[in-house]
Amino acid sequence: MAEEQMPHPGHDKHLCWLTGQGFHVDKQDQYKKLVKDGKFMCKGCGRVAARAENLCDPIAL
Ligand SMILES: [Zn+2]
Ligand SMILES: [Zn+2]
Repeated sequence: MAEEQMPHPGHDKHLCWLTGQGFHVDKQDQYKKLVKDGKFMCKGCGRVAARAENLCDPIAL
């Protein structure tokens, strides 16, 4: 299987990437933990996460 190209380090932990992989469907409980009480929004895609490290381009809400 070919490796997916990552645009930057840690992208495999970013919701921006994970939701595209169906993470919110397969690992719904984990996903809910990451977005619960979201304090950051990704400037790139508008997704919200509790921690900045789970977004590509986070800004504080
Ligand atoms: Zn994003
Ligand atoms: Zn990213």
